Amino acid sequence: MVSLNKYKRLRSEHSPEPNAVAVQPHKHLRFVVQKHRASHLHYDFRLEMDGVLKSWALPKGPSLDPKQRRLAIRVEDHPYAYGNFEGTIPEGHYGAGNVIVWDRGTYRNAKGTAEAASADLRKGALSIVLRGRKLHGAYALVRTRRPRQWLLIKKKDEFSSTRDVTRDIRSVKSRRKLPDANIIRSNR
Ligand code: MN
Repeated sequence: MVSLNKYKRLRSEHSPEPNAVAVQPHKHLRFVVQKHRASHLHYDFRLEMDGVLKSWALPKGPSLDPKQRRLAIRVEDHPYAYGNFEGTIPEGHYGAGNVIVWDRGTYRNAKGTAEAASADLRKGALSIVLRGRKLHGAYALVRTRRPRQWLLIKKKDEFSSTRDVTRDIRSVKSRRKLPDANIIRSNR
């Protein structure tokens, strides 16, 4: 799939990360947030759309507070299977470091259809409702004037709060935490 070409180009077959394969869209669209300690600690926010995961890197992670606008840097589309990936990207590879599945669940576009979500993404303003284990309720993803820079903003609803959700540090998949420092195994 064309949108995964960049993903493919950035990775070698020796990385344990999933292959660049697109899937049929699911009835309930999935989202995932991975916590990733690469050269810098960040969170990767991914939304299933058009059979792939549209992806943004969040340097500070998501927030439950509508007053916090979190920078979200658009990165290459990832294959759907990436949403299950947890583990170590070996030294010398793109994104080398450790990854956990920090949150996941389903989402819907505020307009109700996957087609509307794709169109809104192209327009640079996406309104979504998350149903995860840690993140819930309405969020906006808005493109700024700066290249690749978007903002992830919690909308006011019964789930908005000033609580720091990133203090919940365990994987929702394995209950593991990211190691304090990167444990990078060389694949050589
Ligand atoms: Mn990342």
